[in-house]
Amino acid sequence: MTLSLGNGLAALREQIDAPVAAFFSSCVHCGLCAEACLFYTETGDPHYAPIRKLEPLRRLWSREFTLFGRIGAALGLSRPLTEADLAEWEVLVYDSCTLCGRCSLACPVGNDLTAMIRKLREGMTAAGYAPEGLKKAAVRALTGISPVGVGEHSVRKLVEAQAAACGIPIEMDKEGADWLVTISSIEFIAFPEVLGALAKLFKAAGATWTIASDAYEATNIGVQIGSRDVAGTLVQRIVDAAHRLKVKGVVTPECGHAYQALRWEGPNLIGAAYDVEVIHIIDLLDRWRAAGKLKTSGKDTSRLTYHDPCQISRRGGLEPQARRLMAMVAADFVETADAGPWNWCCGGGGGLSANHRAKDLRLTVFGPKKRQLEAVKPEGLVTACSNCRNILEEALQHYDMDLPVLGLVEMLAEYLDEEPS
Ligand code: SF4
Ligand code: SF4
Repeated sequence: MTLSLGNGLAALREQIDAPVAAFFSSCVHCGLCAEACLFYTETGDPHYAPIRKLEPLRRLWSREFTLFGRIGAALGLSRPLTEADLAEWEVLVYDSCTLCGRCSLACPVGNDLTAMIRKLREGMTAAGYAPEGLKKAAVRALTGISPVGVGEHSVRKLVEAQAAACGIPIEMDKEGADWLVTISSIEFIAFPEVLGALAKLFKAAGATWTIASDAYEATNIGVQIGSRDVAGTLVQRIVDAAHRLKVKGVVTPECGHAYQALRWEGPNLIGAAYDVEVIHIIDLLDRWRAAGKLKTSGKDTSRLTYHDPCQISRRGGLEPQARRLMAMVAADFVETADAGPWNWCCGGGGGLSANHRAKDLRLTVFGPKKRQLEAVKPEGLVTACSNCRNILEEALQHYDMDLPVLGLVEMLAEYLDEEPS
């Protein structure tokens, strides 16, 4: 599997189908999607309106697939889309959308703008118009395992170190374990303590788990760059490892888009239903909580709030699970305005964290999140996505906001009664 590059306009034309036609036919040009998008609200630039980002797709559809568009084209009333247009639009399509889904929630006619932006990215990637950082990450994920180059040897060393630190063995490639746990490269690099936290939590719940040496990576660069082939290959890799190790299920870690890719889109990407359960770690922990398998002692008494990762709460539905787990460890929990499905994105989703040319814009669109936090003045910010956590830390530092960012899994492990029930 390689990242295919080809004729730009033909690749984009291939994306035009009934949902695309229905989308553009039903848009009533109300502008509500713009008001929902952090890139528009923070810049006031109409270029950043979600519907505007779809303009190449709309122009191609209108000119070639509608009666009036075809007549207009024949009369020379419209200009054909060119490769130069695609090259120009690449920056807009990749740098000013985190695939957060807020615009889709706002659209009164139910248009899923985020899905359309993904479709546009599919065409762009197939045509070769994608940011270099994402292209290189996709090649690394396909030729190795991790999109940032965290190799098996490094993973083994991290696993050994964390097992030694928490005093609980972590066995890789353990056949017959209950769960195959996937980890994101950001966790390996920036938050490896999550491995020790997982060891404590699985032990407390009386469940066995393992990490596959050939499928440890949870993140799916194919979803971010817009390549169903790449995304499907990466999902299949994990499904194959689950079969090889004969586990009952696969756990996705504190990573938003990995959850979307593996839990919700995976079967369509690989063209087959799963025969193992796929569950997010927050969902699994909440299941164990409900079954009385997780017991905690004491709580953090500082004023804590929760950042809902877009793909986990808005598009993943795990908002209540996170609140119930927060209630186990937070004595003074405060919600921000717009928390839950309407939460504001950290600014780093949809591949923006790997797209270095978008850094300044990413920091600019941190505005809504900054205002959410300033209004409730928390002493700690908890989240369940390591990409969000990384981006939040960077932005908070940029804006001189002294606020620790914590991972929910690690927090639970910290207050855990470690004896199995
Ligand atoms: S998905 Fe989010 S970032 Fe992208 S256009 Fe919609 S609201 Fe804006
Ligand atoms: S919110 Fe929906 S109907 Fe309104 S402009 Fe955006 S896509 Fe069109």
